[in-house]
Amino acid sequence: MSDFPQIQLLAPKRGMPPKHFADLSKDERIDALKELGLPKFRADQIARHYYGKFEADPLTMTDLPEAQRQTVKDALFPTLLTPVRTVETDEGDTTKTLWRLHDGTLLESVLMRYPGRATLCISSQAGCGMACPFCATGQGGLDRNLSVAEIVDQVRAAAAMMAAEGSRLSNIVFMGMGEPLANYKRVVNAVRQITQPSPDGFGISQRNVTVSTVGLAPQIRMLADEGLSCTLAVSLHTPDDELRDELVPVNNRFEVSEVLDAARYYADQTGRRVSIEYALIRDMNDHDWRADLLGKKLHSALGSRVHVNVIPLNPTPGSKWDASPKARQDEFVRRVAAQGVPCTVRDTKGQEIAAACGQLAADEDAS
Ligand code: SAH
Repeated sequence: MSDFPQIQLLAPKRGMPPKHFADLSKDERIDALKELGLPKFRADQIARHYYGKFEADPLTMTDLPEAQRQTVKDALFPTLLTPVRTVETDEGDTTKTLWRLHDGTLLESVLMRYPGRATLCISSQAGCGMACPFCATGQGGLDRNLSVAEIVDQVRAAAAMMAAEGSRLSNIVFMGMGEPLANYKRVVNAVRQITQPSPDGFGISQRNVTVSTVGLAPQIRMLADEGLSCTLAVSLHTPDDELRDELVPVNNRFEVSEVLDAARYYADQTGRRVSIEYALIRDMNDHDWRADLLGKKLHSALGSRVHVNVIPLNPTPGSKWDASPKARQDEFVRRVAAQGVPCTVRDTKGQEIAAACGQLAADEDAS
């Protein structure tokens, strides 16, 4: 028994947030507004504010009757994400935002500005249950799934930031915390809202949305049948099952050949090239023979419909692993390419602010 039982009572209960406008279908929005005494057309009007102007507060929606703005806010626009901290790096090109969710859970998203495009890296879960040993998020386990609106609102917040700069958010990558395909239905719903034109969504091109997965083969096949043409990224990290069982533990359920079969199905159904993620780890997965085998397996599974992204390992605090030396990395890339598979090295924006792969929110949790 705790000496301070009241502390237990004060701690917010971990769980899904209150319902938000972005959690609801069109019909559900109309019903919810009807209950508040508002006519049907208000649903589209509010959606235009949210998706078209990136406004999340009905009090600023001046074409709503003043008396009803607070009612709409209370019923349909709970605050989902409260900024705790914002950090910039890369001379202001990269912005990392730490958010607190309604139950105290922490979450991060990272906005990266490049010439001609701006990419937001978003989270699909708080924490992650996939336990990849080189990933900081994987060490803490899964807190919970994010709601649809918690995913969508990360995009809205970044789109608002870009609009304020006179620019536009153009790309979304599900490469923040969590395994998107383990929160499948909500992620697909969010992808639709991210890509549909206003007033149904933010109108970001499907091709510019990348869903990155550890390789949940059945869900990759489901995603292939959704009629979406977003980009699939598969975190392979090694072409052989023996090492992959360790680096990506879910490989014990879906082995490399099953994952690549599912990736081929995705490419067949969508006509999209599949991205393969490969975190290069010194003396772990950076051998010549692994580069050759990777190139061969990918070429035979996917032909020319594949591209390898090598990510220099971003060592997590206390990790025994490190990135490969530059010469090793160059040789690895050369060998994969020699098998006829395009292979490039991912640039590492945000590294010095712990905004790089697998580090999101880990610092704060540790404190
Ligand atoms: N669960 C999804 C999204 C995770 S983050 C997935 O596994 O694909 C996106 C990418 O960053 C994944 O390829 C992941 O393996 C990689 N990553 C995680 N930690 C990393 C680290 N410390 N260094 C380099 N890449 C890392």
